Amino acid sequence: VDNSGQGIRRRFKEFFAAREHLPKPSGSLVPEDPTVLLTIAGMLPFKQIFLGQEVRPAPRVTTSQKCIRTNDIENVGVTKRHHTFFEMLGNFSFGDYFKREAITWAWELSTKEYGLPVDRVWVSVFREDDEAYNIWKDVIGVPPEHIQRMDEADNFWASGPTGPCGPCSELYYDFKPELGHEGASLEDDERFIEFYNLVFMESNRDASGVLTPLENKNIDTGMGLERMAQILQEKPNNYETDLIMPIIDSAAQLAGIEYSSSNERIQTYLKVIGDHTRAVVYLISDGVLPSNVGRGYIVRRLLRRVVRCGRLIGIKGKDAFTPKVAAAAIALSGDCDPAVAANAERIFTEMEREEMRFVTTLERGEELLTSLLDAAAKASKEPVLAGKDAFLLYDTYGFPLEITEEVAMERGIAVDLVGFKAAMEDQRKMSQAAVVSVDLTTGKQLADIADTMDSTEFLGYTSLSTEGVAV
Ligand code: ATP
Ligand code: MG
Ligand code: MG
Ligand code: MG
Repeated sequence: VDNSGQGIRRRFKEFFAAREHLPKPSGSLVPEDPTVLLTIAGMLPFKQIFLGQEVRPAPRVTTSQKCIRTNDIENVGVTKRHHTFFEMLGNFSFGDYFKREAITWAWELSTKEYGLPVDRVWVSVFREDDEAYNIWKDVIGVPPEHIQRMDEADNFWASGPTGPCGPCSELYYDFKPELGHEGASLEDDERFIEFYNLVFMESNRDASGVLTPLENKNIDTGMGLERMAQILQEKPNNYETDLIMPIIDSAAQLAGIEYSSSNERIQTYLKVIGDHTRAVVYLISDGVLPSNVGRGYIVRRLLRRVVRCGRLIGIKGKDAFTPKVAAAAIALSGDCDPAVAANAERIFTEMEREEMRFVTTLERGEELLTSLLDAAAKASKEPVLAGKDAFLLYDTYGFPLEITEEVAMERGIAVDLVGFKAAMEDQRKMSQAAVVSVDLTTGKQLADIADTMDSTEFLGYTSLSTEGVAV
């Protein structure tokens, strides 16, 4: 069987095509809906259909949709399963089949087509959704110990405060079945990974919060391609699958290192490079160019983070390196989106220009740091670089804290990390809007988010920091 990333995608679409789903190509990362910043889920291209404002192309559709979730930036390289860019495989019913078929096919696909051992698959249902619970238990035969009821936060979907909504049911894979079911929690992500989410759009919520049944009930699903690849390729995380590893290897090669023999910190930088390079490549291909506002600012942040991580893993030299890493991402893009290869030259040009621009910024930061360190050395016998200065470098000059510390250390100067954190925290408070997550599942109004993204251009770095990885 073909468990390559390409194979998993192909088999998903073939499975649903054989069940009368119309295969459609991925929509753009830039949604047609002007109120939405980026495509964050497979359902987005069909939002108008779900809202009843557009005619369905067919009763059943299947896609592999390119997605970007900026709210997962801080998880990149930190968790084993989150990316900014990923592909969501989906099967959709527009007023056609409903819960029973969606559950039955999800099970068949997972356990027969992909061959997951039945005792390794656990499911969640919405607390109040007895119908789904019973289908899993009685029709499919999942033992009750492997079915967990969950709250709204994880298992209820709404497109906004009003409008279509409904309960979800998720499929999880168990990496450690030897632990048994006693006390097991699907939220334990050392043990379980969510790979498939089924949304049963069955109600309409009005302004006073009252739910009424929808006349045409819909099915919206999403399976993470990279997560299924992790499971089937038996890799410790999404990054080491054939969908991303070649990008990581090309970056490692440019730095003269190897992923497998690198320490955890370096591996995290490599994962960030792999993830963000993919995101930038697909965004530029879809027409989003680096800038200081909105979508363009997201590309800029992602690319600059690639450049910083590249320096941290030891990539040197005067030439731009990001286009070289991008070439590896483009080489993998064919089955996902054939337009990417056709846009390769434009992608390289944009990345090179943006990287060189950022290097200039970094060099300005280096000059400023030198003069700040000179002043600190003059002022005291035990000189310390003030936290607010380190933060200024980080925030305004895009100068990573680790580089500041390294340069300061070379001169025997300490950096006030407590002060740095305090300055960062102050700014985080001031820019709450910048860390708003772009997640349709939270029910936040996307129009609001698009607005705030535009007005918070320079505050973005605070939401870019990752725990334990100051880049
Ligand atoms: P998680 O709880 O792991 O963050 P989620 O519940 O936010 O996932 P959904 O919104 O249900 O994810 O999206 C459907 C599917 O898309 C998930 O089951 C998962 O397989 C995949 N997915 C979601 N977010 C990501 C991501 N950031 N990177 C890779 N795959 C993702
Ligand atoms: Mg999530
Ligand atoms: Mg989840
Ligand atoms: Mg989910």
